[in-house]
Amino acid sequence: MSFVVAIDGPAGSGKGTITKNVGEKLGLVYIDTGATFRCVALNMLQEKIDINEEEKIKKMLDNINIEMNENGQIFLNNEEVTNRIRQNDVNDFVSPISTIKIVRDKLLEIQRKIAQGKNVIMEGRDIGTVVFPNADVKIYLDASAEERARRRVKQNQEKGIPTSYEEVLKNIIDRDNRDSNREVAPLKKAEDAIYVDSTNMTIEEVTNKITEIIENSMSK
Ligand code: C5P
Repeated sequence: MSFVVAIDGPAGSGKGTITKNVGEKLGLVYIDTGATFRCVALNMLQEKIDINEEEKIKKMLDNINIEMNENGQIFLNNEEVTNRIRQNDVNDFVSPISTIKIVRDKLLEIQRKIAQGKNVIMEGRDIGTVVFPNADVKIYLDASAEERARRRVKQNQEKGIPTSYEEVLKNIIDRDNRDSNREVAPLKKAEDAIYVDSTNMTIEEVTNKITEIIENSMSK
């Protein structure tokens, strides 16, 4: 039997960092589902496929290979794209492509396969609602849009990706709207998810709080 923790929330809520930290602390395999959507967006940009070209998208999805290793590196068709998928062209394209049903269906299959038979902590937008509706623990991690934009700018600076605060805030607000209002698998809190607002919390505080929630559930 595998143990599944679902962490959902909007862009920049801290899901990535927190999920990685908690995964390490509790020995759970960390899976970033946003990276799988980013790989599809990058593949479409590389092959110059437009969002309306369904046949070409289908063909691309039939041939796509997405892999993640224990060091957090992401590979698209055997090429390492860990930093490439965080750049602005992908940021702007990823949310529109994540509304395409055939893309979501394919990634749902890939995400469930990656988690099979493992104890995992998986982060995304629809993990507790669609990918693993029976997850053992569900967390909805939130923060104000301004705080999320500040965190993204800092994160990008550390990675050497030049970004302006205004640009990031606009991208975050646009993505929130699109992710929450799309028809297929919108971003929303699962009814049985625990809501955590990290706006005024440090990374350590959020990590400890979520670790405690999971440990309580494991010991039941
Ligand atoms: O988490 P991250 O910001 O990397 O996700 C990139 C985009 O992928 C999100 O804005 C969203 O449109 C999409 N996504 C999704 N469902 C998930 C994970 C990500 O629709 N489970």
